[in-house]
Amino acid sequence: MPNATSTSKRVFVVDDSTMAVAVTVRLLKDAGYDAEGQIGSADAMERIRELKPDFVISDVMMPGINGFELLNMIRGNDNLDHVRIIMASAKAYEADRLKAKKLGADGYIIKPFTLEKFEVIVNSLGTMTLSAWGVRGTLPMPQEGYIRYGGNTSCYSLQYAPDRHLVFDAGTGIKNCGTALMKSGSARMTVDLFITHPHWDHINAFPFFTPLYVTGNAVRVHGVAQDELGFEQLMVAQMDGVYFPVTVREFGAHVTFHEIGEQQVAIDGISVRSMLLKHPGHCLGYRVDYAGRSFCYITDNELYLQNSEFADEEFMHNLANFCRGANVLVHDCTYFDKEYASKVHWGHSSLSEVCRLAHLAEVERLWIHHHDPDQADEDIARKLEFCEGVLQSLGSKTIAVLPQEGMSELV
Ligand SMILES: [Zn+2]
Ligand SMILES: [Zn+2]
Repeated sequence: MPNATSTSKRVFVVDDSTMAVAVTVRLLKDAGYDAEGQIGSADAMERIRELKPDFVISDVMMPGINGFELLNMIRGNDNLDHVRIIMASAKAYEADRLKAKKLGADGYIIKPFTLEKFEVIVNSLGTMTLSAWGVRGTLPMPQEGYIRYGGNTSCYSLQYAPDRHLVFDAGTGIKNCGTALMKSGSARMTVDLFITHPHWDHINAFPFFTPLYVTGNAVRVHGVAQDELGFEQLMVAQMDGVYFPVTVREFGAHVTFHEIGEQQVAIDGISVRSMLLKHPGHCLGYRVDYAGRSFCYITDNELYLQNSEFADEEFMHNLANFCRGANVLVHDCTYFDKEYASKVHWGHSSLSEVCRLAHLAEVERLWIHHHDPDQADEDIARKLEFCEGVLQSLGSKTIAVLPQEGMSELV
């Protein structure tokens, strides 16, 4: 299992100077980055393909493959679209800076490298770090054979500033999410928690989210009502002293509830849009847009088979538009096609239809989410193979990913 509190960003440094590589890697490691360096560019591309780092910092002037050529090679590789590339040069020529930008660099540092210069660029990129805390559906499965990807139910977080987080769903994964947020460095934080719907696997660990009990924190909880039952009422009812001994009166944070439907919410320059999904009761899917990057969280959603009597291509088309061009789509992938045949109308999707959606929407990365409690690690591993096969047969550029609890990457 990966470290459940690890959210450090991977940085790969390329320079022909041994000293420059050593100093840069040391500075980054001291600041908490997962940094690795390479002297010279000859084998750099091979290592970048393996490592898939969040950032590459490359020297411009290098013998053999120079920095611009390396930049060009990375930008030509569809599997590395998420990599942010920062060029480093001792020369401040405007022409070099423009050339780097034209070739797809995200930033340009005039050497010597300092952490401050690097972080100014990172912050200006509006980066969002996505972390998985609960990838299972329906029921936690904390037992042997079920923990390679994690046994906890639905929860993901998106960090967009040191003390600001969006969290999606409050399944049992939210316990480790809260622990990680508390350790992430800032004394006080603001959290916007978006709930998809009130089925147990999406709300029942809400009382275990530690930031709720810390004075000075602000937690805004957003979600949809269920007919007469208001959103706040359905979240708070499970903390009335009967189902759980601690009541909401014991929250130390400033906690507010916001009932939403299909709409847009603006938070610190971030847009969060919501759309009603196909699931028993009312269930919202979410799309986050920030600084040109986008993330969609669509779980507990049934995509009826394309050629079945229940096919709803209009919904498929609308949802594809909602998810259009997302860098990451987390989607309900509960069933293999064979399993789905006996689960029609249960409110969950088959892998083939999810792959078709991701392809139609031109999604960059599809995260396979909401595993059935009867699916052990080997079954889940086969889901990845299956999705890769379907996406290949569609001629799709979408990459399928199997998230593990504790895993983080830049959106
Ligand atoms: Zn669920
Ligand atoms: Zn559900």
